[in-house]
Amino acid sequence: MHPPYSPFKLTQQEYAEAIFSKLGKGREHAALLYREWFSHGTADGLTPSFHNAESLRQNILALTDLSLPPVSSSLVEGSTCKFLLDVGGGLTCESVLLPMRSGWTLCLSSQVGCRMGCSFCETGRMGLLRNLRADEIVAQVWTACHIMGKRPRNLVFMGMGEPFDNYDEVMRAVLLLTSSGGLKLYPRNITLSTSGRVDAIYRFIEEGDPSLHLAVSVNAPTDAIRTKLMAVNRKFDLEALYRAMQAYCAHPRRLIFAEYVLIREINDTPECAAALANYLRGLRVKINLIPYNPGRHLRYLPPTSATVEAFAAILRAEGYRVLVRGTKGQAIMAACGQLGGRKEKVAFKSTS
Ligand code: SAH
Ligand code: SF4
Repeated sequence: MHPPYSPFKLTQQEYAEAIFSKLGKGREHAALLYREWFSHGTADGLTPSFHNAESLRQNILALTDLSLPPVSSSLVEGSTCKFLLDVGGGLTCESVLLPMRSGWTLCLSSQVGCRMGCSFCETGRMGLLRNLRADEIVAQVWTACHIMGKRPRNLVFMGMGEPFDNYDEVMRAVLLLTSSGGLKLYPRNITLSTSGRVDAIYRFIEEGDPSLHLAVSVNAPTDAIRTKLMAVNRKFDLEALYRAMQAYCAHPRRLIFAEYVLIREINDTPECAAALANYLRGLRVKINLIPYNPGRHLRYLPPTSATVEAFAAILRAEGYRVLVRGTKGQAIMAACGQLGGRKEKVAFKSTS
């Protein structure tokens, strides 16, 4: 039996109150231990307040569950690092640390697998194995900081899973990650990416912190192409998606990252670029072009670099801000859309 209170599940205030309710004292010390756990990765009682309070610290620790999913393997390519956490039941979730000019970006998972079934995505091939809980999402960031030794400045929910298909746990994790005493990330440095769960976009407009960023995987300029690539388009087509993005942009501080995976001869033609420019008109967007990363199943081909440049040039000529994403981590299957697959996990275990 684990002790009852996990800092991964509670805010600093909730944790301090829980400890106080059991011990009848220790509120401040519990808050200090919580802060130490997230800022230094220890609960040794480093601050002078603990010098004469060792037995109180022990009593607090006896009520505290500091266990977290173990790292089952990690792989490095250049300065990109992918690690897998063992979340029990033979399942692992994958996170990727990417070096960026502004600091480390951590690409987080919200689910093991994904049920959206996009035809170009390795995670989609797995189906949904299970939703991650908020504490398992927080544990990914804690592991990056205190086991991998890299404190991320930015978080992007672009690892395994559809964050808006696990809305409540993802939002609870965001609250825990941004609240005081914890890992203290800024909401403005967190991006949630959705494949187009229009219903959840409206919920996010109502409830979400306006400083959080939203990325939408548009991926095709016509319903015919999008439906082939993304089953979600059958339920929420491009018109419904546009209306939701328009409602989101009605807030003056909000901007959307429109993600577009470029796949050779499927959605990378100049006609597609022109149609995409038309589709996005009127929205406050930055476009991120992601050259398709081939998975193990060679269903599609990546675009040529000339095609990528031509596609970006058409959008820029129409006045859009366009970023072509690199393909960091391809060799360790850590690039966008390459996370997942059962065979891969066996291979990783033997290389870790
Ligand atoms: N489920 C969410 C977030 C995870 S996927 C979503 O779909 O938005 C993160 C990004 O990776 C999405 O923009 C998705 O379109 C992209 N992606 C998926 N598979 C890819 C692949 N094989 N190559 C390049 N990008 C891919
Ligand atoms: Fe799921 Fe996103 Fe992959 Fe689609 S692209 S299957 S929504 S993880």
